[in-house]
Amino acid sequence: MSFVSLGLIDPLLRCLDTLGYQKPTPVQAQAIPAVLAKRDLMAAAQTGTGKTAAFALPLLQRLTMEGPQVGSNAVRCLVLVPTRELAQQVYESFCTYGANLPLRMHVAYGGVSINPQMMKLRKGLDVLVATPGRLLDLYSQNAVKFDALQTLVLDEADRMLDLGFSRELDAVFAALPKQRQTLLFSATFSDVIRKMAGELLVNPVSVEVSPRNTTVKAVKQWAVTVDKKRKPELFMHLLKKRRWGQVLVFVKTRKGVEQLADILQAEGINADTIHGDKPQPARLRALERFKAGEVQILVATDVAARGLDIDALPQVVNFDLPIVAEDYIHRTGRTGRAGATGEAISLVCADEVTQLAAIEMLTKQTLQRIDEAGFEPEHRVPVTDAGGKAMKKPKKLKQPKSPQQIIVPKAAKQASRKRR
Ligand code: ADP
Ligand code: MG
Repeated sequence: MSFVSLGLIDPLLRCLDTLGYQKPTPVQAQAIPAVLAKRDLMAAAQTGTGKTAAFALPLLQRLTMEGPQVGSNAVRCLVLVPTRELAQQVYESFCTYGANLPLRMHVAYGGVSINPQMMKLRKGLDVLVATPGRLLDLYSQNAVKFDALQTLVLDEADRMLDLGFSRELDAVFAALPKQRQTLLFSATFSDVIRKMAGELLVNPVSVEVSPRNTTVKAVKQWAVTVDKKRKPELFMHLLKKRRWGQVLVFVKTRKGVEQLADILQAEGINADTIHGDKPQPARLRALERFKAGEVQILVATDVAARGLDIDALPQVVNFDLPIVAEDYIHRTGRTGRAGATGEAISLVCADEVTQLAAIEMLTKQTLQRIDEAGFEPEHRVPVTDAGGKAMKKPKKLKQPKSPQQIIVPKAAKQASRKRR
């Protein structure tokens, strides 16, 4: 299978050549013909397998072939995504893939001035990538019209259709023409969302590339059990001992993100943060600096879990486990992209046993536990497995409380020295 045999036009083929894309990924091979044929589509494919190009390439082609016909404030193709950073990235992908095409494209998300977005919309757009909140703002100010809308894409579709966005999405659906093409893409779809999606799509093509809801095999995953209060210390310890380079660290709360970043910075480590309380320009700057390798540790909430494509990121750490099991797959998927390898490590405390069990059940794997000498938890994390069970009740270990008193076994000490 080649991009030529998929029937892509010359300007796109030239661009793919420049990017060094030699052949379509499986999701691209299956989705591109369906999108070109104007079919509705639900596509499930693992993280980092090129879903963006799977919808962007055929849409760019169709918009070009149909010729420029965009009226003022009109949008022909709307792509909705859950976060501002992802909106920016998907927009940049459209610009990259469509570099040789005469199309008008823009991006709209909150936290930055709405005026430039309104100006761009005035002449109409072939492609608008947006987050739902800002899109509705623009709509309520008559800055965007949907009469000419042909295609709606929901990237990270299961997230877009879940409860968090339901009010906004209902308002968007009410504003869009009923006659349109709808495309859904994600690495995860729960059964509930699958059913909802079914009601949204007309005679859809279904693309399912790998086993449902799975993590990428090339990402080595393991867990360390530890007491909650010792997580920062353990993170620092692993960072030094294992000589980690760049790490994306996920923390449950915004406050927790800042606290960990403070601890790291106090140790002289180059760390920055991304979370919802931070001004948007600072959020984007932190991500750009991390992508450019100028920041070693990026500490983030789940706002960074979905879709972000960070080249050659070797390490993801779950400082806290995600509340929603699907997010584990997305967080893990920030590494091991486009065929690369990676590692995802979870620091798990006794409180998180239910989350751990849910993750193992969803991903149909039992996470390997690797103990870290000197960090054995006082509050044991019960045994879990892929059957979704926490098999044993938490047991309190009889162990000295202060870390200094813990006697590290000789062999473990030697092994740890070797790695250093
Ligand atoms: P997904 O949305 O499935 O997580 P992305 O669309 O973000 O994945 O793509 C992941 C990475 O793979 C990007 O860096 C992209 O440039 C690269 N990529 C996409 N398609 C191909 C291809 N056919 N050949 C090589 N690399 C590709
Ligand atoms: Mg994606």
